[in-house]
Amino acid sequence: LKQLFPEDILNISEGLTDGEVEFLRQLVELLETKYRPVVNQAWVDAEVPKGFFEDIGKLGYYTNPLLFEGREGKKQTSQLFQFFFAFTMSRFDVSLNTLIGVHSGLGFNSFLFGGSPEQVQKYVPKLASHELRTCFALTEPDHGSDVAWGLDTTARREGDKWILNGAKRWIGGASVADLIPVYARDEETNKPKCFIVKAGQEGLDIDIIENKIALRIVPNANIHLKDVVVDESDRLQNINSFKDIAKVLYSTRAGVAFMATGAMAGALQATLKYVTERKQFGKDISNYQLVQEKLAMMQANVTSAMALCSQIARQQENGDYNEIVTSVGKMINALRLRETVAMGRGICGGNGIVVDYDIARFFSDAEAVYTYEGTHEINALVIGRAMTGQSAFN
Ligand code: FAD
Repeated sequence: LKQLFPEDILNISEGLTDGEVEFLRQLVELLETKYRPVVNQAWVDAEVPKGFFEDIGKLGYYTNPLLFEGREGKKQTSQLFQFFFAFTMSRFDVSLNTLIGVHSGLGFNSFLFGGSPEQVQKYVPKLASHELRTCFALTEPDHGSDVAWGLDTTARREGDKWILNGAKRWIGGASVADLIPVYARDEETNKPKCFIVKAGQEGLDIDIIENKIALRIVPNANIHLKDVVVDESDRLQNINSFKDIAKVLYSTRAGVAFMATGAMAGALQATLKYVTERKQFGKDISNYQLVQEKLAMMQANVTSAMALCSQIARQQENGDYNEIVTSVGKMINALRLRETVAMGRGICGGNGIVVDYDIARFFSDAEAVYTYEGTHEINALVIGRAMTGQSAFN
């Protein structure tokens, strides 16, 4: 375990089962042997490395028997494992974890929580095995933080069909998804609903947002919907209010806290490598006290973030998906991530802005983590609302 998670000085990983540890060991081996040599160039080229989805599918993130050893009767992987999976993936690369996250988190849970029993049976096993890929299409060009307040995409019912019109922005993985859960406002009732739009459907147009400075490996898309027809049978039956959408959002927001923690550890890993290779004034820069203070702060940030995440995971394992706790986790870990990557980037000097040294990738990617799944301010307002009983959103 020390070799697999050297930054885990609280020994939180001791709570993982042997099967989970073995799975994570295999994951690290795959990432280090196959993807380490290509990840920086993939980031520069803004391309998903070849074979990535297939490899993750084969590893069986949801289905590998290793993850169910000692969990008889449990249908889901443990939350502590979910934390360590996101941690391990993000420690390697935040884009790759985000790509898995939009499929396995927001996308998957739209079906799992939003689908009728028949819809769950029809789609969830294929999504779990990665036979079908999905994403999550909520944000719009004119509505980001206030998407609950103003969803412009509309759905008009005509008999057994719905006609969708509107646009979405920032949708991660939409261009590689088979099924796109599109959130739209019912023209008649004004209530939000969710519709399964299929890749290649008439009236669906997808273009990739170019020139991003963060998460370059993730293809984020603009989606245009012009009279797209969806059957009532492909409307996710249990999503009928923003509260229902919030359930999906809050189920995965903690995942961003997990991811931010892994990204801090990735920045630390890259920085530790650099300080033992770079000499100034005749010595490795790791010798200098001012450098060590920053390394210590980076480690302290990782440690406190890991402690917070493990407690969130424990609560979730007991079925408590607490809205305030997840907002606290997302808000503070994303903030600490920004601080941590900046310290690492500084320690790496000029080379810290060159992608080849890894730290630049974490430095840039932190900016996206800071913004998505609720910006710092929006999460603060969720927490503030709970603390004061006053909603700043009204
Ligand atoms: P805005 O909402 O325009 O906010 C701009 C600024 O105003 C922010 O600092 C914000 O905090 C502040 N602000 C807004 N309202 C208030 C207020 N009331 N009080 C104080 N400050 C306020 N969405 C999806 O649906 N699916 C995806 O897969 C997806 N992936 C994403 C991937 C990336 C890389 C990024 C960057 C975004 C992604 N998003 C996705 C969208 C993301 O959730 C939004 O970017 C986010 O909600 C913020 O919206 P916005 O960018 O429109 O910013």
